[in-house]
This record gives sequence, structure tokens and C-alpha cells, in this order.
Amino acid sequence: MNDLTCVIIGGGYAGLQALKAIKEKTNGIANGRRIRFVLIDMQPGHLRKLRMFRPTATEEEIMIPWNQLTLKDFEFVQGTVTSVDGEEKRVRYIGPQGNDARIRYDLLVVTVGSIVRRPDPDQGGVALTDPQAAADIRECWRANLRKAARATNPEERKKLMTIAVAGAGISGIETSAELALTMRKEATALGLNPSDVSVYLLNAQERLLPEVSEKFRRKLDRQLTECGVTVLHNRKALREEAGSLSLSGGDCLAVGLCIWTLGLIPNPGLKGMDLPLTPEGKVLVDECYRVKGMPNVYSIGDCSGIVDPRDGRATQMTCFEAGEQGLRLGKIVMADLEGRPAPSHHSAKSNMDAFTIALGQNGVFWIRTWGLDMVMTGKLPGRIKKLVEDTASMLR
Ligand SMILES: Cc1cc2nc3c(=O)[nH]c(=O)nc-3n(C[C@H](O)[C@H](O)[C@H](O)COP(=O)(O)OP(=O)(O)OC[C@H]3O[C@@H](n4cnc5c(N)ncnc54)[C@H](O)[C@@H]3O)c2cc1C
Repeated sequence: MNDLTCVIIGGGYAGLQALKAIKEKTNGIANGRRIRFVLIDMQPGHLRKLRMFRPTATEEEIMIPWNQLTLKDFEFVQGTVTSVDGEEKRVRYIGPQGNDARIRYDLLVVTVGSIVRRPDPDQGGVALTDPQAAADIRECWRANLRKAARATNPEERKKLMTIAVAGAGISGIETSAELALTMRKEATALGLNPSDVSVYLLNAQERLLPEVSEKFRRKLDRQLTECGVTVLHNRKALREEAGSLSLSGGDCLAVGLCIWTLGLIPNPGLKGMDLPLTPEGKVLVDECYRVKGMPNVYSIGDCSGIVDPRDGRATQMTCFEAGEQGLRLGKIVMADLEGRPAPSHHSAKSNMDAFTIALGQNGVFWIRTWGLDMVMTGKLPGRIKKLVEDTASMLR
């Protein structure tokens, strides 16, 4: 009998977890037929988005070649998927040489994720969107510090040693801490006064991370100050031009560099893929991640419009949710193949909140569940975060 082909589009955190879970649940066999697994991604390796902040400060490779993952026994096809034909059960993609190609599927999982929101081009600065942007940021502040070491004008020197990070989600928090710590070390090495390094984190809200407990927030605030980050609350960056960053409220900051970390939007490429979409531009799915009106097609992760059937809440775009959905998808696919009722989605965060934030080598870990509100700081949370990241990227 012919093999059954299971195609997964997108090897981010959701795609990798889905691939692993479906392989494990089915043991690679469905109704007596061997399952052939094919992963299609536009990139030559898995991008470790959770570590995007690292190369802004230090040289670190965050694109991992597919054959270096612990996940084995799948075929990889490099290509940018342009559309899905649900009638013919075919995925159309453009290969790395620009060739137009198609692949047939029996089972399809769409996990094309999200992209980082960019500011308008006339707002200046650099958005932390991908590894190249991270490397550009690193080159820019390093060059600025070298210039500062030669500068004779104290105001000019101070400006060259100042960075503003606009957007205070987890990505902005981690980026600002990593930069403050690394820039101080580099400033010392260049003979500059490390306390002249200023890293501002601009938070449009009144407080950091509105969803966390007050206890956690207090510790996080303190840890950020210790790293050398100054958080400006209720301040929105508007526009950076020639080293002058205008803020809401009318003030200006003199900066050597402005970095935008503005959060995520669903993959805009979904619009042309012939998949049913929600008004927010995510794939329309039922409570078992089945794409509406397209048999044997599933979608999870940042690109999927998953709603908790118990309270109607939309899921957040996080690695944690993507991993949970991937695990559940393995059970759903198995149940569907066997004609049994499948488990339905429920938000991973409905009875537990957890955050781990890396601050240089250290971190802050918070968990709130069953009346417990626990916060841990120091090296251990930093190690937990790294372990979580390595596991999510299938490196362990
Ligand atoms: C800078 C940054 C920091 C973050 N920090 C955290 C954090 O600390 N904690 C947390 O929980 N979450 C964090 N997130 C969010 C987290 O990274 C996402 O929720 C997670 O990546 C979602 O996984 P995914 O697999 O759905 O999508 P993605 O990781 O976006 O993966 C999508 C994959 O699909 C591929 N793809 C896209 N379009 C196509 C196409 N047309 N054809 C073929 N392949 C395609 C991409 O190349 C990619 O490999 C962060 C995100 C960013 C950008």
C-alpha cells in the first residue's frame, strides 16, 4: 500500500512540536500505511525566535540547520508556500532557486507563524525582526562605543552611549537587559566610564506586563534596574531622526540607537494561501484545530485563530501555547485517523500563569497556580529559560 504523506508547513516551535507529537502518537503508521513526514520551510534552518535578543549583544548563531535537531526521520523541503489546494490536496511552493513546485498531502499541518510588527519607515530606528536586524543592531552600538571612546564633546559621547528600546513586552525587556550588561562590559574595555551607558526601555503602559502579579513585577523592576535599564512608563516612542527620539508627552531623548520591539502580527503571507481566515488574518479552525471546510488540514501556533471553547478567549501568540497545541494535535490526529472523538482545545494558561524572563545570565521565574504565587530570581531562572528554549527547539 502507498505511504500516507503528512506535510507540515513551517518548522517553528509549533511545527516542530506537531511533527514530534504526530510521529510519536502514530508510531509512523496509520491504518496499516506508513506515514512519510515532510517539513517545508522557507528558511534553511529552524529559527530560535526566543533567543533573538542574544545576537543584538553577542555573536550567537540562532538559525539551527534542520539536520542538527534531535528530531529525525523526516524529509525537509526548502520552499515558500504560496497556496494550498484543498480539493486536489496539494501545496504549492516556490523553491530556493525560484522554481514553482507542488507536493501532495494526505494530512496537512499549517504552522506558518507570525512576523514582528514594524514601525512606519519614517519612524527611523531599527526593528528587531530577524537575525540580520539583530546583527545590524550589534554592529551599530559597537561602532557607537568606539566613536564615543574618541569623542571629545561629553554630550556627543553620552548620546553615543545611549540606546532606547521601544516596546516593553518580553522581547523588549530581554533585549534591553542583555544590551545594558554587554555594553557596560565593552565600555570598560574601551576605557569609557560604564555608568555613562544608558539603556531606556520605553513602556507605553503604566506598568510592565499587565498580566503578571504585583510581586513578580516588583522583582522584575528591581532586576532591570540592577542590569542598568531605566524603564520609562507611559512613554511611547514616536520617531527617531538623526539621534533625536521624540516621545509622547513632548520630550526628546538623545540616542545613539533606537530599537523597536513592537510585538507580533499573524503571517501576512496567509492572505494569498486560499485558506479560510478570521477577520484578524489567522487561519479559521474549530476547537480541534481542523481548518474549516478543508478535510485533513490542521493549523496551530501563532498563525491559527484558536479560541478556547469554554470562555471564547483567543489564545496568545506564545511559544508556550504553540508547544501545548502541538502536543494536543498529536492526539487529535490519532483520534481522527481512528474515527474516535478528539480532545478539544483549552488554553494552557486557563489555570496556570508562568513566565521566565532572561536577564543576562540570570533571570526571573514566576508561576501562579492553585493559589500559589511564586517568584524566583538569580541564575536558576536563567538556566530554566535556556533549558525551555533548547527543548522547544528540539536541541535536547
Ligand atoms: C523577538 C521575539 C521574542 C519572543 N519571546 C518570547 C518569549 O520569551 N516567550 C514566548 O512564549 N514567546 C516569545 N515569542 C513568541 C514566540 O516566538 C512565538 O509565539 C512562536 O515562535 C510561535 O511559534 P510558531 O511555530 O507558531 O511560529 P514561528 O515561530 O513564527 O514559525 C513559523 C515558521 O514558518 C515558516 N514560514 C513562514 N511562512 C512560510 C511560508 N509561506 N512557507 C514556508 N514556511 C514558512 C517560518 O520560516 C518559520 O520557521 C517571541 C517572539 C519574538 C519574535
